[in-house]
Amino acid sequence: MNKRKFLRYSFLSTVTALTAPSVTAMAKRHAKKGKKPVVISTWNHGGPANEAAWPILADGGRALDAVEAGARVPEADPQVTSVGYGGFPDRDGVVTLDACIMDEKQNCGSVAFLQGIKHPISVARKVMEETPHVMLVGEGAQRFAVEQGFEIENLLTPRAEAAWREWKQESYYQPVINIENHDTIGILALDQDGHLSGACTTSGAAFKMHGRVGDSPIIGAGLYVDNEVGAATATGMGELMIKTVGCHQVVELMRHGYTPEEACREAIERIARKLGDYKQFQVGFLALDKAGNYGAHCIHPGFHYAVRDVLGAQRISSKSKLE
Ligand code: ASP
Repeated sequence: MNKRKFLRYSFLSTVTALTAPSVTAMAKRHAKKGKKPVVISTWNHGGPANEAAWPILADGGRALDAVEAGARVPEADPQVTSVGYGGFPDRDGVVTLDACIMDEKQNCGSVAFLQGIKHPISVARKVMEETPHVMLVGEGAQRFAVEQGFEIENLLTPRAEAAWREWKQESYYQPVINIENHDTIGILALDQDGHLSGACTTSGAAFKMHGRVGDSPIIGAGLYVDNEVGAATATGMGELMIKTVGCHQVVELMRHGYTPEEACREAIERIARKLGDYKQFQVGFLALDKAGNYGAHCIHPGFHYAVRDVLGAQRISSKSKLE
């Protein structure tokens, strides 16, 4: 079984020690009732994000609150160069952010091409809860964020600026679209009430064209949640997910009986069948179903994700088409 191969996070023992009494009680319920609650998220920064989401889920809180809390962790971390503060800028040296969030009632909110706001996921949630709209972009999104009490900050760190200056010298001003420059966080949760939610946030493809928007703020492409079935999120070259409405496809495949991993694999296969240049890019899908089963699939080896449930924290390597 794959799960036997899972690498345990080094912080697992600390986490388990800190939360031991409630984990034991919850583990008994978990064994009886299935795999609730659970949170899963993409890449290395998924581990710390899950740890922020977990106490909310463990206390019986809402999946929506959990995914927002989780997504805010890499958004605020200057060491994460693909999300929020510290994210690599576009080819003009401007950090532009995309994010979306979706709850168990099919409500969703999104921001794209947002500048100067550290927590686009929370602005996306405000769009969902405080406006009649789903998506705000650019200057309008920033103005709305300020009206909602968010501060405008400089998000370009010295590290990200140095990387951009180096790229500009070597790249002859072409956007970088290779497999190393994608590290969006997508985070999905199932709470104790059996409700699903998801969030996705990114600074997008490093050194992209100014104005480029990827899949991450687009409902159906970078994130989709259907509380009857499951949830999916994506990472990698967003244009491929937009062209195939990838996450919606993953959820619909689960509706028709695919497991989360099979659904992710089929979505990758469709990209491969329909988009001839797919080998140049990394794309990974991650999915969670209504019963708490999860899985992933990607194009190039290297995509991994983090899981947190009552059994502890795990890091899992996704299977890939080209391994
Ligand atoms: N999916 C994101 C985009 O295309 C990039 C990433 O996953 O890092 O904007």
